Amino acid sequence: MSTDQTFLIVGASLAGARAAEMLREDGFDGPLILIGEESERPYERPPLSKDYLLGKSEREKIYVHPLEWYPEHGVDLRLGVAVTGVDPAAHEISLADGSRIGYAKLLLTTGSAPRRLPVPGADLDGVLYLRSVGDSDRIRSAFGSAERVAVIGAGWIGLETAAAARTAGAEVTVLEMAELPLLRVLGSEVAQVFAGLHREHGVDLRFGVQVAEITGSDGRADGVRLADGSHVPADVVIVGVGITPNVQLASAAGLDVDNGIVVDERLRSSDPDIYAAGDVASAFHPLLGKHIRVEHWSNARHQPRAAAKAMLGQDVAYDRVPYFYTDQYDLGMEYAGYVEPDGYDEVVFRGDVAGREFVAFWLGAGGRVLAGMNVNIWDVNDAIQDLVRAATPVDKAALGDPATPLESLISS
Ligand SMILES: Cc1cc2nc3c(=O)[nH]c(=O)nc-3n(C[C@H](O)[C@H](O)[C@H](O)COP(=O)(O)OP(=O)(O)OC[C@H]3O[C@@H](n4cnc5c(N)ncnc54)[C@H](O)[C@@H]3O)c2cc1C
Repeated sequence: MSTDQTFLIVGASLAGARAAEMLREDGFDGPLILIGEESERPYERPPLSKDYLLGKSEREKIYVHPLEWYPEHGVDLRLGVAVTGVDPAAHEISLADGSRIGYAKLLLTTGSAPRRLPVPGADLDGVLYLRSVGDSDRIRSAFGSAERVAVIGAGWIGLETAAAARTAGAEVTVLEMAELPLLRVLGSEVAQVFAGLHREHGVDLRFGVQVAEITGSDGRADGVRLADGSHVPADVVIVGVGITPNVQLASAAGLDVDNGIVVDERLRSSDPDIYAAGDVASAFHPLLGKHIRVEHWSNARHQPRAAAKAMLGQDVAYDRVPYFYTDQYDLGMEYAGYVEPDGYDEVVFRGDVAGREFVAFWLGAGGRVLAGMNVNIWDVNDAIQDLVRAATPVDKAALGDPATPLESLISS
């Protein structure tokens, strides 16, 4: 076994960079190496489908830290190189350039990758995915001249990209297998709000459709053929059909993997010296009493604090209420909580749903709040998180009444 004192982080994006920051903040002064296969230093992805994609925000704003932060904090940042293997017995990783590095503790923050569309024509020019800053640059440049954009998949990435394409002036068609956008995440009551929002902005939403192929000529996409034989012409096709966690290293190393790297509430994997955080981690959540994998910014930002503490031998569980946000056109929202598809009894609204200034609450057994979403209403998400955390039944009439302060409904 290696006697190396090095802490190694594989995956140099938000979770990886935050873990390096937290380790230094918590006093780790040994060698610290952060390795990533992208050539950019760690950056945040949410702007890539919002302000950055719209050309409203500069590139410099996406980065997690300034370039000089890494040497100033003794973080050996190695970019543009993939880690190809982990040897838990030897406490070593191997890199694509053939070298090996020993570690005392290893953190995997390898994130996730877009699911590819398994249909003919999916590799034509003009078929674009959105995960990296390079993808965002390509899409922005394609929107510059595109008259018609087809978006496959009405999840968060699909809808945000559709909004950006509309704002850029293209005609936009969204193609979705389910009967509404975001149906599995939000359920039909709130999914309708997003359907209405996009329709009002002139997006052609087609639900319950199956993509059969991407059509093209001279190697370039020119539309999407649906299973019913109809054809949607498009100069650019954006595919946003979900992501899969990058678990290949962990699987090959023999770690427990089940829809992500299985870790406990301290982010420790089935190997005591290997940890995982961010999109790739399926972590036990003490509040929910089960493992969940969260594909959102807040999780990638905050989970590394608990992972860093665990790597330093401290006993701190990660139990934040899952949280995410989106911005589309003039709708901004925050969501806190966790609901399985169809895993709620009813939705209670407070405020003006038609005017898109409201809070929605998903209620579970006995009328306890499982999740809440504030739309164009601000400074209430902490109270929503407290309601979720309290996990006690609430009075539905009071919950739906904007005159009743949310704080007054929280009992522990
Ligand atoms: C366009 C876009 C918009 C988003 N908008 C929102 C939003 O509005 N709200 C929200 O809550 N969330 C949003 N998200 C989700 C959020 O960005 C992710 O949850 C977050 O990026 C996860 O961070 P991560 O560090 O865990 O993983 P990732 O960001 O996926 O980073 C993993 C890194 O590891 C590297 N890597 C993988 N394997 C290896 C290897 N073998 N060797 C070396 N390096 C490797 C990858 O190249 C990558 O750089 C958005 C995501 C995208 C793509």
